[in-house]
Amino acid sequence: MKELPNIHNQTTLQPKKQPSFGAENLSRIKYIVAVSSGKGGVGKSTVSVNLAISLTKLGYKVGLMDADVYGPSVPKMLGGTNPPQEKNGKLMPIEKYGIFYMSMALLTNDDSPVIWRGPMATKLIQHFLMQVEWGELDFLLIDLPPGTGDVQLTLTQGAPLTGAVIVTTPQEVAVSVTMRGIRMFDEVNVPILGIIENMSGFVCPHCNEITDIFKKGGGKKTSEQWGFPFLGEIPLDPKLAYAGDEGKPMILEASDEQVSKIAYQNIAKNLVEQVQKVEVLTKRNQQIPTKIDFENGYVTAEWPDQIQSRIDPRRLRYYCECAMCVDENSGERKIKEDEISPDVHPLGFRQVGRYGVQISWSDGHNTGIYTFERLRDLGEMLV
Ligand code: ADP
Repeated sequence: MKELPNIHNQTTLQPKKQPSFGAENLSRIKYIVAVSSGKGGVGKSTVSVNLAISLTKLGYKVGLMDADVYGPSVPKMLGGTNPPQEKNGKLMPIEKYGIFYMSMALLTNDDSPVIWRGPMATKLIQHFLMQVEWGELDFLLIDLPPGTGDVQLTLTQGAPLTGAVIVTTPQEVAVSVTMRGIRMFDEVNVPILGIIENMSGFVCPHCNEITDIFKKGGGKKTSEQWGFPFLGEIPLDPKLAYAGDEGKPMILEASDEQVSKIAYQNIAKNLVEQVQKVEVLTKRNQQIPTKIDFENGYVTAEWPDQIQSRIDPRRLRYYCECAMCVDENSGERKIKEDEISPDVHPLGFRQVGRYGVQISWSDGHNTGIYTFERLRDLGEMLV
């Protein structure tokens, strides 16, 4: 039986309030996306920078907040270290290659031991959220420090995040720490927009052919297993590393045939698709149940307008909309009603963003997400 990463074992769910002290300053940004990884060195900053550039190539106005306070590398990757200017009491982000960025490395310019930076890190992030003049943007990507510490917490609570992207490498160990990161976002109901597998295979600089030197597919496997979108994989490409060191992102230089450039372009498109999906779903699902439970043989929900509803679990299981249960092209239901066990029941629930719930079923199925709207539609109202 596969367990969901953040299953509510008490089988109740209490939607939390939308956080964010930075909401006002960030109000003119359409999508705020955290780029996260379980551990360091998986290429999170490289992904943030190249993804930001790829999004500008699609015509979007993009900002990049380097919140990796323990190893801020964005300015180096973008080849700029001029200190930012102040205007009307706000800090102006630096514009480079069409993106607007801010980083601690621009402010401190020191080599003080990382441990000293700890106490100031949270303050600095608050500053980035509230006092940087981000202006009007389509996307703000936030390059988080690896793992799940105070800075990540400040950010997930302080920024009205559209969602999070998780960067991982193919090795199994990276995949397991990825789960911890996912749990962190779940805690504050930030949806996972997708997983990116970096360093997935090696691109030969001579013939452009890919060789799988590590075990491949960990990110994709994790996505499929838990029902998260898979945004794509980026191969190990020496050009990516050189470009990062030279301060000119690979995307700007590479030919259109370059495998890693194509990978980034696809990932950028997939990300756009995901943020738009989350936006639509969040708008459509304004009614968030205050409680979802499994009691007396029914899945029950309590709604903010005092209405209670209940659904036969078999019916709910049958109406699962995931790719395993419904053919994506024809819309035909692949699962047959009589194949569903008569005593199928939920083992737990996991809230997905602010629009739905993922259910872990007793028959081992757990990739389906039910929007709140759907849950209400399928339910029988109790008065
Ligand atoms: P993180 O932000 O996760 O600590 P970085 O983005 O700083 O990781 O990347 C770590 C190192 O790996 C850098 O030297 C970077 O140039 C290199 N790198 C990242 N992704 C790739 C890739 N796909 N191919 C080759 N080198 C990469």
